Parts: sequence; structure tokens; C-alpha cells
Amino acid sequence: MTLSRPESSHILTPLPAFSDNYLWFLQNDQQALVVDPGDAQPVLAFLSEHPALQLGAILITHHHPDHVGGVAELVARTGAQVFGPALEKMPIPVEPLVGQQHINVLGLDFKVIDVPGHTAGHIAYFCENAQINGVAAPLLFCGDTLFSGGCGRLFEGTPAQMLASLDSLAQLPADTRVCAAHEYTLSNLRFALAVETDNAALQKYNLACQTLRAQSMPTLPSSIGQELAINPFLRSREISVIQAVQQHFPQRKTNEWNETTVFAHLREWKNNFQ
Ligand code: ZN
Ligand code: FE
Repeated sequence: MTLSRPESSHILTPLPAFSDNYLWFLQNDQQALVVDPGDAQPVLAFLSEHPALQLGAILITHHHPDHVGGVAELVARTGAQVFGPALEKMPIPVEPLVGQQHINVLGLDFKVIDVPGHTAGHIAYFCENAQINGVAAPLLFCGDTLFSGGCGRLFEGTPAQMLASLDSLAQLPADTRVCAAHEYTLSNLRFALAVETDNAALQKYNLACQTLRAQSMPTLPSSIGQELAINPFLRSREISVIQAVQQHFPQRKTNEWNETTVFAHLREWKNNFQ
């Protein structure tokens, strides 16, 4: 009989910040990383409750203040190594990353994926082999690109860029845990239900998320498989979504519709959705 060596396991915790941000905090026995710390306070509070933990790394997805605002203070207090997008202006020095690069943090390999759209140089971090909270499944930190039931607003990129970025995330394994940076799920699902009223998976997921939020529990992480079933921005080539968009913008000519214009109008519909 051979004794099996215990798998090295990590613990993943969403630290709430501001009104609806999550600072994703990943740790093993001694070391931790945090993603997009827009505020240092929740991270410092967590570290003071876990004095054996050392903050080894900070992963940044894009330059917005609610994602980088706490980085300088955390670096000053912990000396953590900072990684961030090479193509964006950062408030402090970072180790610059572009798509296809790999970094090793906490003994985990993260692949960088370029996901322009919300901002011009937005990146995501994907770990294929992660054993987290006792469960083996891939892990994705996607900032403000993919949310549960939605996607980020297009502040700097084009609809075609965002569609391509979401396509690259949609190709990840179905069990990939999607760690988005905001708890926007319920309002996203109200819009999703306006687009796909008859989507049974969406109706069921909406009820489950309402139950979680009623108990102040996070709806995240979601999974790529879940999002493929319910997120209209990953479903913009489905006939149900195309028809809903066309009905919402009846003044458009038939020959103006293609996958990019459907996606662009879906995003515009969401921007004005109350
Ligand atoms: Zn943002
Ligand atoms: Fe944000």
C-alpha cells in the first residue's frame, strides 16, 4: 500500500470592499496573494487576523482606482511583488505582463490572457491546476471583463474587442471558477431575463442567486459553464438573444446585423436598462 501525499491546497476568500467590489484573496499555509486591491484596509484587516500569513503578491487586472487604490499602501506595509498589465498606466511600478506570459505565485502557474474592452490593456489571470478549498478546478481572475450574468462597460475598447475577449474566456474549461471583481449579479440577471425571458437555466440561477444575496452571501465565484448557460454577453450568437436585440432596436436595417453589431447593441441596451 502506498501512502498518498496530500495535495497542496489553497483557500480562496472574496474580501468585500467599497459597495460591491470583491478583493480576491488566495492563500496557502504561509503565503497569500490578492487581486485588484482597490482598498488596502480589508486586506490589512484580514492579514492581522492571520499573523502567520505573508502577502507575497498583488495581481492587477486594469488601471481603474477601485482596482489599484490600495496597492501602494500594501506594498509599503508588506513588500509584496506587484504584477499588472504592461499596456496600462499604473500608479506604482509593476512587473509588466501581456497575454500568453506565465507567472508562478504561491506555487501556482497563472497564464495571462489579454482581454481588452473595458479598458484598453485589461488582462486576466488563469490557473489551470488549482486545488482550492479542497476542490480541484481551474481558476480565473477576470477583473471587470466578465461578470456573472454580464460584462464590463466599454470605456476604452470596441465591441469587437470585448466580444473577442469574452470569446477567449468562454473557451476555458467549463468548471473554471470565475472570480469577477464586482457583485453585480442580481442586477445583471434582471437584464438577462429581459433578453431571454424563457431561459430555464437563467430563471433557476436567478432564484439561487436571490437566495444567496438574501443571506448576504456572494454569488461568486461563478463558473464558465454556468455563464455559458445564462450570460447574454456569452450568448450573443444564440438565436434567442439575436431576436431579442433586433426586436429592441426595430429601426435598424436587416443588413446591418452581424455578430459585432448584435453584441454592440446588446451592450447599449444594457447601458440604458433600468
Ligand atoms: Zn474597471
Ligand atoms: Fe471595477
